[in-house]
Amino acid sequence: MIVTRDIQQTRQARGKLESLALVPTMGALHEGHRSLMRTARRHARHVAVSIFVNPAQFAAHEDLAKYPRPLEADLEACRAEGVDLVFVPTAGEMYPPGHCDMVVDVPALSSVLEGRYRPGHFRGVLRVVAKLFHIFSPQYACFGQKDFQQLRVIWAMCQALDFPIEIIACPIVREPDGLALSSRNMYLSPDERRRALSLSAALRRAESLYADGARQTNRLIAAMQQTLLEPNGLGHVPMAIDYVAAVDVAALHPIELITGPTALLLACRVGPTRLIDNTVLQSLDGTASTQPMM
Ligand code: AMP
Repeated sequence: MIVTRDIQQTRQARGKLESLALVPTMGALHEGHRSLMRTARRHARHVAVSIFVNPAQFAAHEDLAKYPRPLEADLEACRAEGVDLVFVPTAGEMYPPGHCDMVVDVPALSSVLEGRYRPGHFRGVLRVVAKLFHIFSPQYACFGQKDFQQLRVIWAMCQALDFPIEIIACPIVREPDGLALSSRNMYLSPDERRRALSLSAALRRAESLYADGARQTNRLIAAMQQTLLEPNGLGHVPMAIDYVAAVDVAALHPIELITGPTALLLACRVGPTRLIDNTVLQSLDGTASTQPMM
């Protein structure tokens, strides 16, 4: 496994590889990231991972400084997954001193939902992902459906700018008790972690109402809000909802009546930690799906 620190070395190393699937990450790798690497391996002869805590996608009040950076363990995880190339740039390599600010954006998709609570976040994501796509020229890039809006925004960028890259959407990996894996789960105390189970419980409740025939999203949203706010034996750690939304998977517009593929999206603060989760409902056969939609 080759580990590179600068862009030039990375281009050289990539040049020696054949078909490539890229897995962009911010490190603190867990089983969710590793499932992306395994999916990448199924698509291409070679797999590259980038590990970069991208300052451009954090707002001033967010957790950039305390974001976990266990590099040795991350490299070990990449090695165990048979990754060929790992790019670990510094912020100075990606954004050299004196660089000009530049913006890649898909405002119709990036300004809603997460965009309302994290202004500028997707611009930061798109900027770094566009840069990584140019550095690696991969044939495939794998992203988790855990960050549903991010996946949608990146897919739209590729379409708009004609990146010849197939975006592979990978299903959410969860703990056995339902909690979606996230590097930010490390911030949770045992009590907060228990309370965080309300997120997946809310989604499961909505899926079960949907399976029983409910199609009005206000019913599903009310049930999810109730599940989130009632402790239901999960302890009394404060839970604040940023949003609970039902949107069509393509335009991310809120919908009232489910007639096509619909994403149920949640963002909540459990104590001081902000968590997101989602599920996609398919309308045709009445089942809930963990399968990617794009
Ligand atoms: P991050 O390191 O948080 O930027 O995530 C890197 C990639 O891993 C993104 O495409 C995420 O959507 C994906 N990812 C994070 N958590 C999970 C999970 N629990 N299941 C599947 N993919 C995930």
